[in-house]
Amino acid sequence: MSDLHPVGRFPEEWTAALAALGEPKYRATQIFRWIHRRGELEAAKMTDLPLALRERLAQDGLTSPFEVVEVHRAKDGTRKLVLGMPSGGRIECVLIPMTPLSGDADLAAASDDDDEPGLVAPSERTRVTLCVSTQFGCAMGCVFCASGRAGLGRGLGADEIVSQVIIARRYLEPNEDLTNLVFMGMGEPLHHYDETARALRLLTHPEGTGMSPRRITVSTVGLVPGLKKLGADFAGKVGLAVSLHAPDDVTRDRIVPMNKRYPLNELIAALKSYPLPRRRRITIEYTLIDGVNDTDAHADRLVRVLSGLPVKVNLIPMNPVEGSGFQASPPERVDAFQARVAGYGYSCFVRARRGDEVSAACGQLALAPGLIELGRSRAPL
Ligand code: SF4
Repeated sequence: MSDLHPVGRFPEEWTAALAALGEPKYRATQIFRWIHRRGELEAAKMTDLPLALRERLAQDGLTSPFEVVEVHRAKDGTRKLVLGMPSGGRIECVLIPMTPLSGDADLAAASDDDDEPGLVAPSERTRVTLCVSTQFGCAMGCVFCASGRAGLGRGLGADEIVSQVIIARRYLEPNEDLTNLVFMGMGEPLHHYDETARALRLLTHPEGTGMSPRRITVSTVGLVPGLKKLGADFAGKVGLAVSLHAPDDVTRDRIVPMNKRYPLNELIAALKSYPLPRRRRITIEYTLIDGVNDTDAHADRLVRVLSGLPVKVNLIPMNPVEGSGFQASPPERVDAFQARVAGYGYSCFVRARRGDEVSAACGQLALAPGLIELGRSRAPL
């Protein structure tokens, strides 16, 4: 009936698939709500559907694209879920509770929206951000990143991106609310734009998860054509984070190879044209690497490059990645860099290290060797 995985279908696509079974149109919305609003991926549990339809859905492939292989809990409450694909590949997503000490720009991104009614969790509850992967590995090759060093397996389908949200919701504590999503896990979300955009539309669909696009941040290394499409397709409502990591082409070419394709002047021009709503800011991510991009001169250049852009700067002391040959900047250098950028009037945060002991911190999501898979199976329904 359709070659789309059931989790990746919109209600209207369910309508088309169900018409062939002689089912009425409203069943499409029922099924969509079961999957996306209630997170149910077992057809047998969709109790308001006729038994014959439940059996048909199960038979035709309504299953989760992943099974949870491992759950790693860090002392700070961060949970890394390792998700296995039927063909043996593994990806990861990470639940990050926002504590008062988190102090990073993702929290700051949320606080930009605190005027938005109904979106702020009551104080006794804990807001949680989920970091999802969009690719199995990554082709961008950033030198300080475990995913980049492993290379690209394949892009994930929209169903696989959305399934991470459905599955991760099951691992929330009773006092936690999933309030924010960041597309910052394995992969470059704009490298396979269509699936990322489809996932964004599914996640913000009012009959499903219904997340506000303002609560979703897509992080890119700076793929200019994808950036332009994202801005146009979502009217700038989806939050944007840019992995800049260097203030000049010489330094950036060295640590972010994609800069050779889309150099800084092109990237900054694209950011200036991004249709950002009033009072929203772009998050600039800047991994501090000892002796590479962390001097006062780099800080000054960064400020000059960002001049005129509504941004906040998120400094990330490089997380240890085995075999990279790069080291994190020492804490006093991180502090000095932050003070220098903040001294020019910019919001500048140092991202708290979260989930270090489970390798769930930024740049540490990695493929286990030998787990690259290139194909995927599609459900027949
Ligand atoms: S930092 Fe992001 S874009 Fe760069 S290699 Fe890692 S996952 Fe890919």
